[in-house]
Amino acid sequence: MSIRHELVQHYPWLPSLENLYPDIASKNPNEFISDIFSNNPIEIQERILAFFKASFNNLEQIDDYKIDEINIHVYLIIKILLYVLDDKSISNRMANLYSKVTYSELIKEDNAYLNDICKDLKLDILHYKDSIKYGTIIIKDQQEELTSKFRIYYTDYLRLSVNLRDEFRKLVNNPLRDGYVFIKKRSLSRLLQEFVREKFFLKDGDDKSSIEALKKKLLKIKEFNELHERILANWELKKEDFEYSIDFKSTYGSDISTYLPPCIKEILSKIEEGQNLIHNERLFIVWFLIAVNYQVDTIINLFSSMPDFNREKTAYQVNYAKKKKYTPYKCSTLKSFNLCMAKKFKDKLCLEGFLSRKLNEQKYITHPLFYVKFNQYQNSKRSRTGNSPKK
Ligand code: SF4
Repeated sequence: MSIRHELVQHYPWLPSLENLYPDIASKNPNEFISDIFSNNPIEIQERILAFFKASFNNLEQIDDYKIDEINIHVYLIIKILLYVLDDKSISNRMANLYSKVTYSELIKEDNAYLNDICKDLKLDILHYKDSIKYGTIIIKDQQEELTSKFRIYYTDYLRLSVNLRDEFRKLVNNPLRDGYVFIKKRSLSRLLQEFVREKFFLKDGDDKSSIEALKKKLLKIKEFNELHERILANWELKKEDFEYSIDFKSTYGSDISTYLPPCIKEILSKIEEGQNLIHNERLFIVWFLIAVNYQVDTIINLFSSMPDFNREKTAYQVNYAKKKKYTPYKCSTLKSFNLCMAKKFKDKLCLEGFLSRKLNEQKYITHPLFYVKFNQYQNSKRSRTGNSPKK
């Protein structure tokens, strides 16, 4: 299938980039960047910097977003920069921004082109010129037909929606016929947004010495070096706004940072890396921190490193949760939400439980707050008897 050059300029993450722009695809990063900057260094620097500044400011759109061949260069250089910057917080912010910009472009896209995009990504998709009906809903005695112009094969649907945990996106909650899910343009664009978002994530296994070697070479290119410095300077300025760490000593009588259960540690590390949290993760961390007596301001500041942070909204939600005195989720609920991290952290207490002296039997913990209390108790016992912790 042949795809228009304009579509690749608009969406440079499309696989057809390789066929339509073989001169770019065949170059190594060093050659590519030297060539690009030798032509129009100022414009490309400014356009790339605009993306970084917007992502550091938690924006969701780019002013004056241009669709041209330079847009391909911008995308590729951003990816190279993220690789050499090697900072998950920066990558996550960029992933968030770039994928949202993509979504707002896709939603305006002509349906036939949206179909071409899906085909280019080798998705098994069916596109209909006229809407097809797949059901009816009745709202207040009014009957409404459910229609769509797209259907996507269920395996592709599952692959693209794997990280979207909203109930309504689950396969069982979507109409399916002959293996194809009926999907509206908005939902299809949302799935593609997720595909694009993942393109920016750093892989944990990336070899640090190759990153350093590439960085050393690229920084010899004057314009790239300048751009790299400007991005870092902007990041340093912005970072201070959301670099808050929770003071675990202040409110729970003693330092509880070493007693935190794996489910909480996982969420805190996501926040530290600037990753977005799903709804249940947000509720859980807020209710947990309130339960261990954290100050509202401390909790709000903790959230400030997240890509979609909104101080007013967060303040309202944290204050509301405090007023309502919600109890944090228990272990069984966290397990059903896939938020239990006992296995990932190979945590002995979570996996094996503890010996109850009262009942003289092994018991599993049932609540993350108990995890903190149990560890605090064990620690105070050790301090009293002068025993060091068992390894
Ligand atoms: S067992 Fe409970 S406390 Fe431990 S990680 Fe799982 S949910 Fe959290």
